[in-house]
Amino acid sequence: MKISNTYLQLGTAFSESINPLPVADPHLLLWNLSLADQLALSQGLPDNENALAQLFSGNDLLPEASPIACVYAGHQFGQFNPQLGDGRAHLLCEFVDDHQQRWDLQLKGSGPTRYSRRGDGRCALGPAIREYLMSEALHALGVPTTRCLAVVTTGETVYRDLPKPGAVVTRIASSHIRVGSFQYFAAKGDVVSLKTLTDYTIDRHFPTLKAAANPVLELLGAVMDKQVTLIVEWMRIGFIHGVMNTDNTAISGETIDFGPCAMLGIYHPGTVYSSIDSGGRYAFGAQPSICRWNMARLAEALLPLIDEDQDKALAQAEALIADFSPRFEQAYQTMLGAKLGLDEIQQTDVALITELLEQMQEQQLDYTQTFHQLTRSLTEQQIATKLQDTLGNWYGQWRQRIGNDSKQQQAAQALMQQSNPVVIPRNHHVEAVLQACELTNSSAPADALLKVLRSPYQMLAETADYQDLPTDNDRHYQTFCGT
Ligand code: AMP
Ligand code: MG
Repeated sequence: MKISNTYLQLGTAFSESINPLPVADPHLLLWNLSLADQLALSQGLPDNENALAQLFSGNDLLPEASPIACVYAGHQFGQFNPQLGDGRAHLLCEFVDDHQQRWDLQLKGSGPTRYSRRGDGRCALGPAIREYLMSEALHALGVPTTRCLAVVTTGETVYRDLPKPGAVVTRIASSHIRVGSFQYFAAKGDVVSLKTLTDYTIDRHFPTLKAAANPVLELLGAVMDKQVTLIVEWMRIGFIHGVMNTDNTAISGETIDFGPCAMLGIYHPGTVYSSIDSGGRYAFGAQPSICRWNMARLAEALLPLIDEDQDKALAQAEALIADFSPRFEQAYQTMLGAKLGLDEIQQTDVALITELLEQMQEQQLDYTQTFHQLTRSLTEQQIATKLQDTLGNWYGQWRQRIGNDSKQQQAAQALMQQSNPVVIPRNHHVEAVLQACELTNSSAPADALLKVLRSPYQMLAETADYQDLPTDNDRHYQTFCGT
């Protein structure tokens, strides 16, 4: 395990050097063996649970680690906050895997820092397990995401609305550079640090851009493309992030910060579950436009580096941001086409797709189930008949578009099977598992759900236990930030 601390080396303007605050009685609850194997971490780590618990609670430190809390700013629900930062997280170190890919190793819930404001620096067990479950689910579904290596219970109580067991979650991310990281220096007018961060980001994530005529403008375009891909993937599986503030938008294009996230059940673009999002700013269907808004904030922050002539810089950035919607729309239609077995979108397909979504909304159909049933209907007559009843003429039109040839149908079904999960981390199941883990102080309920979520395109023997819809269709479901 090759450990380094390159972000620390950017200088004291970027972070505070601070160690995690030890916890009373750490126990390893969840350990992500497949991630540890994939990153070849095991060689550099102790092989017993106690030692791992000490390490991933922050009680022990790897000898080469030099923990920091990173500073950033951010628009939270549209309001700019000039200084946020890791208020309960410690970036322990970075390491480079066997494929020369650099990763951040970060603890969350590991104690207060300079950026804690009024917070206690801690994390409750429920949100820690949620982050682990949801990120593993997303990863298995093929969605770019940060992942969790471990959840350690601390033996301490944290006080939220009620007293809760505390936990520390270990996050692996390709970096923790956020849109808000750039905003922080831009707002301070610290162009030197802004340039340092930009060069570092290009070096770390987009090294090929170094040779471009205008690397900063290209960086903006590249981040935009990553974000388009990410949001399209969220929309494909029905993921609602819930708090798409600019400080929760990673430059790498990975999903980050799973606070009040949830899954879409019945299709409705206005779906929002977060208790703090009363205006629906971060509703399911609002995610693309919010992403564009966030990219515009990144563009603003980068203006001083795009061109010395700020009018020119603005014109170039605006032209790029104007291209967000066409880029998104194309990727979005391609994705929906694939969900319907179409590997190429023709002009009339857009209407076909739109009509299905309208019908799903009107008839209050479940997003995941509908696409799964459509997939199966290509080979199962009973399901086809049922869908014909539900969807009327639309169903026949769609089948006609697929074609009658069995080769065409096979190809369509194969594409649909890759695009439409048979199971997602449904809100009621995730909640039940969090409660059961908390109550029993064991990982068994999470392990059972994880087994299914790790094969989301396949029917395992246990999959059926997790496919059902909630009895109230999540009408009363609410998520909380968990801070
Ligand atoms: P989030 O909404 O989780 O992205 O957090 C927003 C900001 O609040 C970040 O700067 C966090 O570090 C900080 N924060 C959240 N919870 C806590 C906590 N319990 N203690 C200290 N800081 C926190
Ligand atoms: Mg955050």
